Amino acid sequence: MSNVTPGLVCAHHHLYSELARGMPAPPEVATNFQGILEQVWWRLDSALDLEMLEWSAKLGALEALESGTTAIIDHNETPNAIEGSLSVIADACAEVGVRVVTAYGISERNGADGAARGLEENRRFLAEGGNGLVGVHAAFTCSDESLAAAAALADEFDVGVHIHVAEGPGDVDAPERLAGLTNDKWLLSHCVYLPTEHDLRGTILHNPMSNLNNGVGYANPARFSNPVALGTDGIGANMIESFRLAYVMQRSVDVTVGPDPAWSWLETGWDLVPEARNDEVVWSYDPMDPWHIAFTSGIHPLKVKVDGDVVFARGTTTRVDADEIRAKAREQAARLHARL
Ligand SMILES: [Zn+2]
Repeated sequence: MSNVTPGLVCAHHHLYSELARGMPAPPEVATNFQGILEQVWWRLDSALDLEMLEWSAKLGALEALESGTTAIIDHNETPNAIEGSLSVIADACAEVGVRVVTAYGISERNGADGAARGLEENRRFLAEGGNGLVGVHAAFTCSDESLAAAAALADEFDVGVHIHVAEGPGDVDAPERLAGLTNDKWLLSHCVYLPTEHDLRGTILHNPMSNLNNGVGYANPARFSNPVALGTDGIGANMIESFRLAYVMQRSVDVTVGPDPAWSWLETGWDLVPEARNDEVVWSYDPMDPWHIAFTSGIHPLKVKVDGDVVFARGTTTRVDADEIRAKAREQAARLHARL
C-alpha cells in the first residue's frame, strides 16, 4: 500500500444533472420517489438543451478529476435535446481528460416517439464508434417492446444495457419484465427493491447517497450474488466519499463487517472500465488502505494521470481552465433555472 492507486471509476453518473444545484424549489413538495422524479428530475431534464448539457458535463468531468475519478459510466436523459447528446457528453469529457462510457436512457414517459428517438441516439453513437452502452431509464417507464428493442440493440453492438432497476416501489415488477433479457454485460442501477433471490444477470450499481437522499431505503447489495459496483447517481463523482458511505451503511445493518466489501465494490469499477487501471492517482494520504480511508476525511488527489498524461496537478486541471468551466456552468445554470 502506498499513496498511489489506479484512477477511480464512478459506475453510475448523470452528467446532465450537474446544474441542478441551486435550482428553484419545485412547485409542490414531493412526498415520495415518484414525486421526486416528477417534481425535480423530469422538470430539470426536460428543460436542458445541448449547450447546457455541454457545460454540465464539463463541470461533472472537472469535479471527477478533482476527486481522483478518471472514468465515468454516464446515463443521459435530455428528452428535448436527444439527438447528438451522447457526442456532446463524450466531447466534453475528452476535453477535460476524463474517460466516459455513456448511454441515452430511453423512456416512454413522453410517448413512444421519445423512446424511439432515444434508441436511435444510442445506435448512432455506437455506430460511429462511441464508447457507449444502450440506456434504458427503467422498466416502469418503458413498454415491453422498448425493453426488447434496447436489449436487441445492445446485442447487436455487443455491449450491455444500463438501466435503473427497482429503485423505488413503483418498479417492483422490473425483475419479471426484464426476465430473459439481461446478460452479464448489463448494469442494473440501485436494486433497492430487488428481491435477494432473482434471475437478473449483470452488475448491480450501488448509489448509497442518492438512495438516502430520495428516501428509498438501503439496497444492502451484499445480499446479492451479482457483482456490485459503486456510483453516485449524479451527486458528483467523489468515489472515496461513496466508499466511506457504502461502508458505514453496510455497518448500519451488520456491525461485524469491515471496509473490505465496500472497497471491493469500488474495485469492480475496474472490471467495467478496465482502461482506468492504466490511470494513476497520487493521493494526499498514505497508505490508501480501506481501513485507513474509511476513517480519514479530506483525502484528495495531488496528481492524476490518464493514459500517461498528467491531467490534474498542483490543485487544478492541466488541459482546461477550471475557473472558466465553473463560470460558464454558472451561466448555463442560470439559463436553465430560469426555465423551471
Ligand atoms: Zn441514476
